[in-house]
Amino acid sequence: MDFISHGLWPVAVFPNARWKWKAALFGILPDVGMFGPLMYLFAQDGIRQIKWIIPFIDKTGLTYLTPSIPDVWMASYFAFHSLVVWLFVVGLFVLIKKRMYWPLIGWGMHILFDMFLHAGRYATQIFFPLSDWSVSSSLGWQDKRVLLLNWIVLLILFGLFALRRLQKKSA
Ligand SMILES: [Zn+2]
Repeated sequence: MDFISHGLWPVAVFPNARWKWKAALFGILPDVGMFGPLMYLFAQDGIRQIKWIIPFIDKTGLTYLTPSIPDVWMASYFAFHSLVVWLFVVGLFVLIKKRMYWPLIGWGMHILFDMFLHAGRYATQIFFPLSDWSVSSSLGWQDKRVLLLNWIVLLILFGLFALRRLQKKSA
C-alpha cells in the first residue's frame, strides 16, 4: 500500500484517540525499511531505478531486478514488516513505560495490510527472522481495484469524521 494510505488508516480507524497522528507516523515508519533494497537496486542499476520508485510510471521496472536482491539487503525491509519485531518493540515499551504505547498500533496495522497485499521478493514475512513464511497474495496493493477501494473507504471514513465534527460544533 502507498505510504500515505498507511499513514491515514490509523487516523481513520481511531479518529477519537489523542495519539492518532503519532500512530500515523508509525504507520509510515515500516517503509523506511526500503532503504536496504533500494540501496542495492541503485548500486546495481543506478538511474533506471528512479522509474522503479514510481511504479505507476514504469510497471515493468518493478520486476526485472527485485528477485535478485540478496537477503542481507532485504533484511531491513523484512524486519520492519515483521510482527515478531513489532511485538518485541511493543514489549520493550511496556517494560520501560509500564503501559502500552498506543501509537505503535499504526505500525502493526501497516504489517497487517501489507501481509495480504504483497508477494514475491516483497512478500510480508510476519515471522521474520524466525521464519520466511508469507501469505504471498495474488492481489497487490498496486492493483487499481485495491487502490480504488482503499481510497474510497478512506474518503468515506474521513468524510464521516468531518461530518461528526461539524455536527458537534453546531450543536
Ligand atoms: Zn510496507
